Amino acid sequence: MKLNKKQWQESIARILRAEYGTDVQSATKKELYGAVSRAVMALVPARKKEDKKRCAYFSAEFLMGRAIYANLLNLGILDEAEDALKELGRDLAEFEEVEDAALGNGGLGRLAACYLDSAASKGIPLDGYGIRYRYGLFRQSFVDGFQHEEGDDWLKWGDPWSVCCERDTVLVRFADLTVRAVPYDMPVFGYKNGVVNNLRLWQSEPVQAFDFTAFNEMRGDQTAVSNFNASKICDVLYPNDNTMTGKILRLRQQYFMVSASLQDIVRAHKAAGKALAELPKSWCFQLNDTHPVIAIPELLRILEGEGMSFEEAFAVCAKCFNFTNHTIMAEALEKWDALALSDLLPDVYEEILACQRKLEADGLDTARFYIVRDNVIHMANLAIFVSAHVNGVAEIHTGILKAETFRDWYERFPEKFVNITNGITPRRWMLLNNPKMAKCIDAVIGSDWHTDLGKIKGIEAHIPALLADFKRIKGENKAKLAAYIKEHDGVDISPDFIFDVQVKRLHEYKRQMLNALSVLYFYFGIKDGSIKDFPPTAFLFGAKAAPGYYMAKAVIKFINEIARLVNGDKDVQDKMKVVFMQNYNVSYAEKIVCAADISEQISMAGMEASGTGNMKFMLNGTVTLGTMDGANVEICEEAGRENNYIFGATVEEVKEIKKFYCPREIVEQNPALKRALQTLIDGTMQDESGMLKKLYESLTTGYQPDRYLVLYDFADYVRVKEQLLRDYGSEAFDKKCLINMANVGKFSADRSVTDYANLIWKL
Ligand SMILES: *Cc1c(COP(=O)(O)O)cnc(C)c1O
Repeated sequence: MKLNKKQWQESIARILRAEYGTDVQSATKKELYGAVSRAVMALVPARKKEDKKRCAYFSAEFLMGRAIYANLLNLGILDEAEDALKELGRDLAEFEEVEDAALGNGGLGRLAACYLDSAASKGIPLDGYGIRYRYGLFRQSFVDGFQHEEGDDWLKWGDPWSVCCERDTVLVRFADLTVRAVPYDMPVFGYKNGVVNNLRLWQSEPVQAFDFTAFNEMRGDQTAVSNFNASKICDVLYPNDNTMTGKILRLRQQYFMVSASLQDIVRAHKAAGKALAELPKSWCFQLNDTHPVIAIPELLRILEGEGMSFEEAFAVCAKCFNFTNHTIMAEALEKWDALALSDLLPDVYEEILACQRKLEADGLDTARFYIVRDNVIHMANLAIFVSAHVNGVAEIHTGILKAETFRDWYERFPEKFVNITNGITPRRWMLLNNPKMAKCIDAVIGSDWHTDLGKIKGIEAHIPALLADFKRIKGENKAKLAAYIKEHDGVDISPDFIFDVQVKRLHEYKRQMLNALSVLYFYFGIKDGSIKDFPPTAFLFGAKAAPGYYMAKAVIKFINEIARLVNGDKDVQDKMKVVFMQNYNVSYAEKIVCAADISEQISMAGMEASGTGNMKFMLNGTVTLGTMDGANVEICEEAGRENNYIFGATVEEVKEIKKFYCPREIVEQNPALKRALQTLIDGTMQDESGMLKKLYESLTTGYQPDRYLVLYDFADYVRVKEQLLRDYGSEAFDKKCLINMANVGKFSADRSVTDYANLIWKL
């Protein structure tokens, strides 16, 4: 799969001529992008039919980001491709404009993408199955400080990495509509090992092509309606992270994806001459959260349609399915109205009822165990009942699942429950986004750590020798990010400032509000002289809010108002800047995580299942300012709590505090906090919308004021943050950064997928 420079140039020229009727000099960026991608695709070997057991990763989201650089890197041809283009007067960097494939919301979808990379790189036979949304996660901009959403037309750059496999089309039937599911396959390249796994994304299309005769005879209405509905299924990714909307179109999407995938897999299994009872020897299925759980009754339906009894089909499902839980938030655990589901998918509903009957026949106490109750279908319970394994995504999260969320299930089926702490791929999150640091590490310990991240521990013995290079490279990365922010967001920040970064979806539990209030606290403190010698700091935020999530959008408006106040005040210009970076996505994240000095991971303890952003920062040598939540706990175990900045109530403390919590008392005892909070209602900020007032009320009044203990944790947060800012710049601080990098091994997605393969998939 290798070409020399000359062969590269010939291949690109040939494709440009044949496909676009142009040459390298006059090709547009898009044409050149298409030609380089296609030149790579031409190297992909035909897939070998192997008789190994495979795992299918069912996920409603794959947040892949930009494919071209990662693919060139994994194929080991990044430098050759760069040289070949340079010589022709073009540049790989031109593709920085290519839109991300943003077919996911945040952490859950990005996890799926990291797992595909890691599985291929470890030679683990894992294929992804999902939906080819026409529009991915919306593109975000700010208008007067408010979030503005636009459709994400990710296909406007073409999709040269996919191959449409028409011949594998299947039909998916709803009570009111039958649609064609057409698969688009994207190769997933292992890192320099020749392995190619597959990501199959299904696109919905109408069964008949548009019927012109009917249309001309004015019988068009009916045809037009069913065509419209068919393609609408894949129109858009629901932009909700950690919440469930209960929309029927979403149920259609979920069923569409798993029905197509399972029909496809069963058909191939039969075509290979194998018995369906043997399916668990050839396949297992990982359900990424509850979104694909409807796969369970669908496989029951398919197997019974092939002549199996319910008991036989259930036995197959009980061996094939495994379930990953990603959150303890009730609003994210999917529930469907039984009537709505039975209207749309009557046969599938019958299978769900059969599972409920089996549960009862197995002697489970229906007061504690149920799948259908009061006409509501509980998808997580269905998943747990049938799956062989159920896993949480960090030690603390799995502990909460066992002790609380699924306590009854854990007591009855303890053997099902396992923990698999999340991970990230070090290829995209270090080799690709921070190549100078990677080379610097290679020079000290060799390159084994690229595929065995535990080996990066080797740098720990060389920290004094690495310090100067680390600081220089971080400085260069900061300068690059500052230039990008200037161009992209129109704010000037000095690379000499401390870069304090919080980037992740906007959610009340993630507490961007806590960070925002601390910025105001520093601002007023500098202004009135109570804070002296404040080290110049840039407070950088990046986050999309679900379009229907009012409070999240209010937080965005608030932070943008803080930025207006601070950045417009000459008195503090040499002390602080605030930027809300627009349209945070994977490509932006790549630029940010290698340039940060502080990684803010400040969710209320017990709420963040794992987090993976925290791991990206750690890998790039950034200390965590965080709570004892999610994988932060394990980051402290690995790198030492003393090398990070931990604050706030613990999970156990949160429980106690909530019993008697009165946020008003906290505010009255803390005048600085009160002052920061008052800006929401005292006219400091522009707020014709009334949003900021609502935000104020959510923290101070109502049924559950300050649900996420922003005000409670404020004082401790500021105390630890001030300590961090004081420590910054010392040699001791820089050592902490490198100790974090040295101890990141556990958080490689290579380790995560290996755990899945050994403990769950048994590949
Ligand atoms: C890693 C990543 C996330 C997840 O971040 P958390 O801090 O773990 O919530 C979300 N969005 C993007 C674009 C990412 O790259």
